[in-house]
Amino acid sequence: MAKVLKLEIITAEQVAYQDEVDAVIVPGIVGQLTILPHHAPLMTMIEPGELVLRKGGQETYIAVTGGYLEVLDNKVVILADAAERAEDIDIARAELAKEKAQESLRSQAPTDLDQARVEAALRRSLARLKVAERRRRRDHRPP
Ligand code: ATP
Repeated sequence: MAKVLKLEIITAEQVAYQDEVDAVIVPGIVGQLTILPHHAPLMTMIEPGELVLRKGGQETYIAVTGGYLEVLDNKVVILADAAERAEDIDIARAELAKEKAQESLRSQAPTDLDQARVEAALRRSLARLKVAERRRRRDHRPP
């Protein structure tokens, strides 16, 4: 039996990731899901958050902004609105998006739809900042 599983992360713009991994931890809408090799078939939605993939004792962090997850035949396919590895995240842009969203939530009396949009933007920015922070911490870890 294979000890790894295939992972593909696909966005509207590109195949963001494609490899064999030991495990993947995904922000599912009902909580964090850990997918190991030979996981039972599954289809669910994912939330903006941090996706962690483990391979050869190393962890890689990817910010995903929501989408779908399918597990079938030892393969995980994630269709995400956007997916960025830590090194591709523009921290200043994510900070600005966070501040803009927080400011809108503070200062307006938005419609429900506006409020949902702003809250979603806030969650995306927080996911990006969390993943970027992981990398910053790793780079500054004492030897
Ligand atoms: P912003 O308000 O800064 O545009 P957003 O959350 O509205 O952020 P998305 O709609 O999720 O942006 O993404 C649009 C495109 O921009 C995607 O290709 C996404 O990967 C990219 N993107 C968004 N924010 C960042 C960021 N902070 N760093 C790198 N790429 C980003």
